[in-house]
Amino acid sequence: MPKQSDVLATDFLVKIAEEFGTPVYVYHAEKIKTQYEKLQNAFQKTNTRFFYACKALTNINILKYINSIGCGLDTVSIQEVQLGLKAGFDPKNIIFTPNCVDLQEIIAAKDLGVIINIDNLSILEQFGHTFGDSYPICIRLNPHIMAGGNFKISTGHIDSKFGISIHQMRHIERIVKSTKLKVTGLHMHTGSEIKDVDVFLRGVEIMFEMTQHFPDLESIDLGSGFKVAYQQGDPETDIELLGKKLTAAFNHFAATYPRPLQLWFEPGKFLVSQCGYFIVKANVIKQTTANVFVGVNSGFNHLIRPMFYDAFHLIRNISNPKGTERIYTVVGNICETDTFGWDRKLNEVKEGDYLVFYNAGAYGFEMSSNFNSRLKPAEVLVKDGKPALIRRRDTLEDLLKNQIEL
Ligand SMILES: *Cc1c(COP(=O)(O)O)cnc(C)c1O
Repeated sequence: MPKQSDVLATDFLVKIAEEFGTPVYVYHAEKIKTQYEKLQNAFQKTNTRFFYACKALTNINILKYINSIGCGLDTVSIQEVQLGLKAGFDPKNIIFTPNCVDLQEIIAAKDLGVIINIDNLSILEQFGHTFGDSYPICIRLNPHIMAGGNFKISTGHIDSKFGISIHQMRHIERIVKSTKLKVTGLHMHTGSEIKDVDVFLRGVEIMFEMTQHFPDLESIDLGSGFKVAYQQGDPETDIELLGKKLTAAFNHFAATYPRPLQLWFEPGKFLVSQCGYFIVKANVIKQTTANVFVGVNSGFNHLIRPMFYDAFHLIRNISNPKGTERIYTVVGNICETDTFGWDRKLNEVKEGDYLVFYNAGAYGFEMSSNFNSRLKPAEVLVKDGKPALIRRRDTLEDLLKNQIEL
């Protein structure tokens, strides 16, 4: 049994693989709390609230745990809102930040009492005409800051579909004025994997400028994009430095604003990436003329980040942790090219060995599919040192569940 230390031990992970089978996602609850506390500590000198961006990982047990440690919830679909409520979140602690949904979905969220964040002029106008000042809202702005790990996950650039351009402020003002909308929050989220603290500072400065158009603000939401390390030496967002610099800038500005202002964040990856482990089994070792492949019992149907974003996940052979290191290319069993990692140094792999992918908590299970009619993996939560099954592995019945045989 591991201590509740930061990283789950490899022999403990092997035991979980033996008990629950593979492929399996494993989440370490206390690691989520550690990350949450890091954020709280960094921002303790200012009035801050955090909302977990649950699209990273939505298992109901994870949501309940996040609620239990006092964090709010950021959602992007009405279903995520419903899951959050089911997990016990107070609607006042849920932000709804969808993109390109219809007015009906926004109204459904409003009827559930959550905080609404509107990201286009059309819906802003329709919402204003329908509800006027009876339901305060937040507005998502696009500050046009180019940031983020790569183009796919960057959302603030000029071609981005997210947010209302700050250059459309006059139009926003016209809508707000003529429909009497009450705007209590301004929001931006410029992308994922922003390691540069100054990007947030530039963002917040733009938000400060925008506040002059809105006299009723209660919050400024800087979204997220905190980068975590995927391997040793990987740059990550310096949360302490970010806390120090943003606190200074925010407190300085807030003193000039006529109402008390809160600073909000919506961390996804930062809270749950490192809590997650994805364990697979080596099915075959295949020597070709150019490579030694390890073919595992998984593929991009279970973990798509390496293929979709060229993301790096550290892989280890947990069945033979002291074996001689050799060079392997780790691939999946999907009939598509699904390479998890080229030229990885792994302790000698035999068929049947368990391999683990680290940092698999965020956008891992959540982006999985049934491609090739393969079954989605099981999920296990480790809390107080004890593993518990929190999602059973798919069965063939799950594949057929919604199909209608004619
Ligand atoms: C995805 C998303 C986040 C979280 O991004 P991470 O990089 O996982 O921290 C926050 N806010 C919004 C609106 C999002 O869509």
